[in-house]
Amino acid sequence: MEEKPQIKTGLFGGSFNPIHTGHLALANYLCEYGGLEEVWFLVTPQNPFKQNETLLDDHLRLKMVEAAVAGYPRFRASDFEFQLPRPSYTIHTLDKLAECYPDREFHLIIGADNWQAFDRWRSPEEIIRRHHILVYPRQGYPLEDTASLPPHVRVVQTPLIEISSTFIRKGIREGKDLRYFLHPEVFRIIQEKGLYR
Ligand code: ATP
Repeated sequence: MEEKPQIKTGLFGGSFNPIHTGHLALANYLCEYGGLEEVWFLVTPQNPFKQNETLLDDHLRLKMVEAAVAGYPRFRASDFEFQLPRPSYTIHTLDKLAECYPDREFHLIIGADNWQAFDRWRSPEEIIRRHHILVYPRQGYPLEDTASLPPHVRVVQTPLIEISSTFIRKGIREGKDLRYFLHPEVFRIIQEKGLYR
């Protein structure tokens, strides 16, 4: 019997505090132009060893991601890391995902900023050997000659949309109306619950 090809699934991990249009437009581009069939937004839970006062509750951040991805069938909000021992290193999360979803080929989505520091991550060789990596440009981090990249690593020249959650949180605290930087449903949740004030 012919085997079905694995579903090319991008993994976009982050605290998403909150998820913004920069995250969404990037993932949207990778689906429509970057060869990915789906992108999963992997919400990183609180690290019990790192106190961060500005970080909202895990389920609230997940709720905003769920609201943002509803309606676009290529996106999924994932709480996969909520069930793993914390903090979960990328290699561990990727291995677990591959074990749980053998019908999928996972592509770790990372910015050029993180790619530059990738050799300092835990088990970088194993990540590259066992999984795929998709690198996208970030302002101020020129990408090396793509011909010199190891197999399993590829670059997609996505447009730069330099919005950050830090900017959003600060703006909201200052009373700015930043609705066009956020998915309308995310904006609504933030307003309704008075988040980041
Ligand atoms: P913060 O300002 O709180 O640090 P952030 O906006 O960088 O947050 P994260 O939740 O950390 O958001 O983002 C998840 C991942 O997306 C990170 O790897 C981050 O580098 C990347 N990222 C954040 N903003 C953008 C953007 N505008 N375009 C592309 N990638 C982004």
